[in-house]
Amino acid sequence: MYPRPFFYHRASSLQEAVTMLSQLGTDAKFLAGGQSLIPLLKLRFANPKHLVDLSFIKNTSFIAENQNAIRFGAMTRHAEIEHSALAQKIPVLHDCAAGIADVQIRNRGTIGGSLAEADPSGDWANALITLDTTVHCLGKNGERSLPLKDFVTDAYTTALAHDELVKEIEVKIPPHGSGGAYIAFKRSAPVYPSASVAVQLTVQDSVCKEAAIALGCVGLTSIRAGEAEASLRGKSLNEKVIETASEAARAAADPQSDMRGSADYKRQLVVALVKRAIQIAMRRARGERVEGSHLYA
Ligand SMILES: Cc1cc2nc3c(=O)[nH]c(=O)nc-3n(C[C@H](O)[C@H](O)[C@H](O)COP(=O)(O)OP(=O)(O)OC[C@H]3O[C@@H](n4cnc5c(N)ncnc54)[C@H](O)[C@@H]3O)c2cc1C
Repeated sequence: MYPRPFFYHRASSLQEAVTMLSQLGTDAKFLAGGQSLIPLLKLRFANPKHLVDLSFIKNTSFIAENQNAIRFGAMTRHAEIEHSALAQKIPVLHDCAAGIADVQIRNRGTIGGSLAEADPSGDWANALITLDTTVHCLGKNGERSLPLKDFVTDAYTTALAHDELVKEIEVKIPPHGSGGAYIAFKRSAPVYPSASVAVQLTVQDSVCKEAAIALGCVGLTSIRAGEAEASLRGKSLNEKVIETASEAARAAADPQSDMRGSADYKRQLVVALVKRAIQIAMRRARGERVEGSHLYA
């Protein structure tokens, strides 16, 4: 199906994009990689009268290290992150980027667009929530910065005002002795996951000092599995402790039955993914290089 007719505008700076959206009103939308928005236009689930394209604005696609953090311009494509040596300093970022959909979508889709879309099945919000992540935004009143946990407020809903955009995403590099993993279970590459899990652990003398576990696609937003995290802290990470954490994560999941599987099936997936992600995160925390990848049915 063709989208309804719309006016196409090309912004030459982020400030100009914000001004355009503000003047064009609520019938206007930003366009980034178009990998979520264009399908919605074609299905006529979204019918904006104006699209303001961010793709031609200079210096919005970059990966840079600054004061113990990695910064991503909002227009940085998933594929650029997948292939970035800098992003590999935080393995969760590479795991996430490399498993999003297929090559075509990774070449177009952006990290900023993914966070702004706040799709409950999207990968970036779930991976980044286990890290110290700040979203830098630009609106007509200037810039503001929000921790990611305050940025995504509900399914497909963020703290952004209509004429405010994501400018940059900043991720703190985890401390020495920290390791993470992100795994999604998918029916095939070009579909969203049935369930996904991000784990970030800080381990000292074989004892878990800090743990973050996030569950994706099994709730309206990414779910932090607080009891599972607490069950790991202060413990030596043996099989029994990992089993206890995985079962606590099952209880935290709140999935719906749909074409990707029944709610029970997804809870079972969560248990298996948490176990696997903890094992990879532990090895990475010890300094091992471990290839992690999404799992395909
Ligand atoms: C077949 C298919 C499979 C997919 N599978 C996956 C998957 O497995 N995992 C996954 O995570 N994603 C998946 N995606 C989505 C893909 O990752 C998108 O790239 C991403 O969700 C949106 O990024 P975008 O740059 O394409 O944004 P767009 O589609 O251009 O925009 C999405 C929304 O965000 C707004 N927006 C965009 N940029 C900004 C900004 N800087 N500031 C404020 N608002 C902004 C737009 O107005 C729009 O409302 C899939 C997409 C398709 C088509």
